[in-house]
Amino acid sequence: MDRAPDRIGQTEAGHGGHMHVAIVGGGLRATSVLRLLADVEGVEIAAVCDASHSAPAMRLADDLGLYATTELSELGQIPGLDLVLDLSASPVTLATLEAQRRRDVVIVTGSGAELVWDLLIAKKRSEEQEKIFVELQVAYDKIRSHERRLQSSKEALEKANEELEGRLAEIFFTHEFFKALTTFSSVEDVTSLIVDGANGILGAEISAIYLFQQEDWTLRLYASQGRTEETFVPVVPVSETILGAAFRDGFVQQSDVPVGSELAHWSTNPAEIRSQAALPLRSGESVIGVLAIASATFRELTLAERERLQVVANQSSLALQNALLHEELERLSVTDRLTELYNHGYFHQRLDEEFERASRFGHHLSLVMLDIDDFKLFNDRFGHPRGDNVLRVVSGIIRQNLREVDVAARYGGEEFVVVLPETDLAGAMTMAERLRKEIANYLHVTVDGEPPVTQTVSVGVATYPVHAPGPARLVEAADNAMYEAKRGGKNRVSVAR
Ligand code: GH3
Ligand code: MG
Ligand code: MG
Repeated sequence: MDRAPDRIGQTEAGHGGHMHVAIVGGGLRATSVLRLLADVEGVEIAAVCDASHSAPAMRLADDLGLYATTELSELGQIPGLDLVLDLSASPVTLATLEAQRRRDVVIVTGSGAELVWDLLIAKKRSEEQEKIFVELQVAYDKIRSHERRLQSSKEALEKANEELEGRLAEIFFTHEFFKALTTFSSVEDVTSLIVDGANGILGAEISAIYLFQQEDWTLRLYASQGRTEETFVPVVPVSETILGAAFRDGFVQQSDVPVGSELAHWSTNPAEIRSQAALPLRSGESVIGVLAIASATFRELTLAERERLQVVANQSSLALQNALLHEELERLSVTDRLTELYNHGYFHQRLDEEFERASRFGHHLSLVMLDIDDFKLFNDRFGHPRGDNVLRVVSGIIRQNLREVDVAARYGGEEFVVVLPETDLAGAMTMAERLRKEIANYLHVTVDGEPPVTQTVSVGVATYPVHAPGPARLVEAADNAMYEAKRGGKNRVSVAR
């Protein structure tokens, strides 16, 4: 209502591009037209007029902030009014409007008003359709971008899944690896398991285990993986290559090995080593071996990989210590402590095995039995410790004359026996004679003012199947031959009869 004064002094019809319209009538049809016209661009509702203020169209006009009036006569005073839309359907109202109409104001009524209504409805529909079309477009775009997001999150999910599967496989492998480590007991099995572990857990292309040899301060190859065995240098001094560096300093890594680097010379093909790492396997404070991994391509271990390598090394060290201890115990249980030759029990075990083989394949099998001459006298004269030394010297000479397949044992106090597989009597005689001579030529004790004392042995030789049908009789035959040599004057070789 308070908009009326604003309209006063406004431009004439058509000026400014706006059409000023007054709606007469407050019924439902007028309400609808008002609602529709309010949205039409270029049309301004100048006034709504009805006899009652509470008519629906009047109330709507109020809500929309439009000018609502009950006085028809006021319409005539609205400046710039272009059109009066008469929706009252009342001949009296029309007559009043006609009577007060200005020249430049058009009155639309009856079927004209109907037409305006139809046009407005049609316009509204097409606008709505357009709106729906736009909404559809927006919805379509939304679906497309949603789909794209879905696709990329699906890809991310698949990648994460793949990584997870990889991790799981690794965890599974690690678990199996650690389990296997505790069940294997030989050094050979444990070391080859460790290089498998380095491969399975770290994807190492090349890996090797070298164990420390205290006698000559070297690292000796025990197991390898990724290349043929000839590719690995079998014995590496602890001062050399990345193995030696790890032995001294702990974990060492070269992700890009310089051409010609000495550190790669644990491989017989060092030029192919592009990256390598090594770390010590420890037992307490001491290093028992070195685990090395290498690749023909550039590789830098991540912190996580280094940690995994360390875990593998730690677990492996424990298993390896056990295996080494186990082998040491086994070795001790078959070895004579003083001479480090096999003991009596192990001699019998091996003799039985060798006899089995000889009888199955029809091979010869010979025994050489040695007894130190007048050893009691020696002990009496020079004392037991020096006697012990003689035993060590004699066993050393025996050991030096053995082939790989021969088995030498301390049979008793100062008696020794050697099993010679696939050896006939002539071969055994040669061996026995060589031993006798070497021992006799060894001057081992000199006491001030006295000539050097020479120690001799009496030797008996017996051969299967020439002298005996089985192992027990073979030992007996060799023993008898040895006593024959004693009776014959000692320092000689006798053959069984
Ligand atoms: P024969 O020439 O007849 O063999 O005389 P022998 O004195 O060597 O033989 P006998 O069987 O009378 O004595 C063997 C000696 O070997 C007695 C023992 O003191 C000595 N003997 C056995 N075992 C050891 C040992 O471990 N160390 C030392 N030092 N002597 C040992
Ligand atoms: Mg004896
Ligand atoms: Mg003797």
